[in-house]
Amino acid sequence: MIDIKQDNDGVTISFDNEKQQKQVRVDMVIGADGIYSTVVKHIFTQTAPAIHSKENIFYGIIDNIDQQTSINSIITAKNTLTQCFGSGGFISYRAGNNGQLMWPAKYPSVTPPSINDDVEWTKMNNQRELNRFLTRFPQSHPIHQCVVATDPQRLLHFGLYYRQHRSDGWHRNRICLLEDSCHATLPYVGQGANMAIEDAISLAMCLEKYNFQMEPAFQEYYRKRFNRTKCVVNMSRYLGLFSHSIKQRVVPWFVKSDMMIKMVEKELYENCPVPIEKKNMVK
Ligand SMILES: Cc1cc2nc3c(=O)[nH]c(=O)nc-3n(C[C@H](O)[C@H](O)[C@H](O)COP(=O)(O)OP(=O)(O)OC[C@H]3O[C@@H](n4cnc5c(N)ncnc54)[C@H](O)[C@@H]3O)c2cc1C
Repeated sequence: MIDIKQDNDGVTISFDNEKQQKQVRVDMVIGADGIYSTVVKHIFTQTAPAIHSKENIFYGIIDNIDQQTSINSIITAKNTLTQCFGSGGFISYRAGNNGQLMWPAKYPSVTPPSINDDVEWTKMNNQRELNRFLTRFPQSHPIHQCVVATDPQRLLHFGLYYRQHRSDGWHRNRICLLEDSCHATLPYVGQGANMAIEDAISLAMCLEKYNFQMEPAFQEYYRKRFNRTKCVVNMSRYLGLFSHSIKQRVVPWFVKSDMMIKMVEKELYENCPVPIEKKNMVK
């Protein structure tokens, strides 16, 4: 989607995928095009860019974890989340029950990773950054085993960004924003995609309530979703700051005390806009 224009009767969206160009005429547009949204730039001429949190992340996935005997079995046990704090990094190892291990490794950095049109250059730069990151950990640390076991194609490296909430609504006339395009969050409470689903349900309910009259429906959707999503964005932001800005010895204690997870649980369950079955996250 490269352009979007609205008038009194509808919205015209222009698509261009290098092979063909196409225009589509619709009544309403829901802009769910992510943190670097094109829609947001078209409906709000003054749009602040997404904010780099001064943290970057390596995100590795190891397939067929059962065959990786060189990795510490504590972190490869099925349905286990292991978190390591310290050395200026925060690493989670998540082994699901589908034979994959994910290992997001976050570290502080004043700038996001450099990206260049030259793919080889970017690859080399990422490798250099990874080597530098690994020097923070002793050879016995499982992060070294995970890096060796990760196919380079399954390793991402990117900056962590969020968006501040607009105070002037999420819509203009027939075009409305949803999730990361209006309230992108950092990943620390794992709620970005969940907020997207809640947004979609809430917006659908508002449209139904107002019989698809856009103005009152979009206004009510914004009112209903603003506080909830702001709370999640802030919670995630503060957890990120907390994980590397105070004395490192306090962090594992805080995590083990279950205080953090209980706080998150309280917000997520008690203020969820749709009924959900409560499952205890703390065991
Ligand atoms: C490291 C990391 C870990 C995360 N972990 C979790 C987690 O554990 N749990 C969780 O709930 N959330 C998590 N999230 C957040 C979650 O991924 C996002 O919040 C969610 O994907 C946002 O959904 P979205 O639909 O708004 O945007 P996106 O998922 O980004 O989708 C936007 C789509 O729009 C398309 N698009 C963009 N521009 C255009 C255009 N001009 N034309 C056509 N198409 C376009 C894109 O290709 C993309 O497919 C994580 C995010 C990160 C970065």
